[in-house]
Amino acid sequence: MSSRQLEFFSGLVARLMPKRPAPAAPKGADDELTARCAELLAPLKCKELAARVRVCWNPRMRSTAGMAYPAKALIILNPRLREIGEGEVDRTLRHELAHLLAQHRAGRRRIPPHGDEWRRACADLGLAGEARCHTLPLPRRTLTRRHAYRCPACSAEVRRVRPFRRATACLTCCRKHNGGRYDERFRFVKLRL
Ligand SMILES: [Zn+2]
Ligand SMILES: [Zn+2]
Repeated sequence: MSSRQLEFFSGLVARLMPKRPAPAAPKGADDELTARCAELLAPLKCKELAARVRVCWNPRMRSTAGMAYPAKALIILNPRLREIGEGEVDRTLRHELAHLLAQHRAGRRRIPPHGDEWRRACADLGLAGEARCHTLPLPRRTLTRRHAYRCPACSAEVRRVRPFRRATACLTCCRKHNGGRYDERFRFVKLRL
């Protein structure tokens, strides 16, 4: 029986095909995402936090996806999330908002950053099984990535040093259309280089 896996496409990929023009990198305060946070908090009876929360983009962030500052009710996001996809923006937004919500509920009590309180807040914000990770899936070192694959749905390309040993699907599309579970429709297709 073959196993299956999901894979992010990394930021370094897709140098071989003509690319769509990159969206302008967002900068500064984001009213739309701030409003989305307030909406997410609305059913959770956190009016005070919903009124204070602010979301900003910081183009100087490197591989950190997002940060949360509970004292300021502030969420900072890395603009490169937009290059990865709107799904990643939303996921990171909820991850960071969960930090604010967990600390808001705990009041002055100190809580571990990714402990039970945070996991509960994630669940309340519709983020199940979130990993405790703030790092973008960007490559850190340059290796020869000789194996190339493409997602048949979104055309994202992946370059790999070693070939996939298992059936591997595009995580972005699986999240978007199949609740994050493996979906054969989004299985990466090997490209000839
Ligand atoms: Zn976190
Ligand atoms: Zn895809």
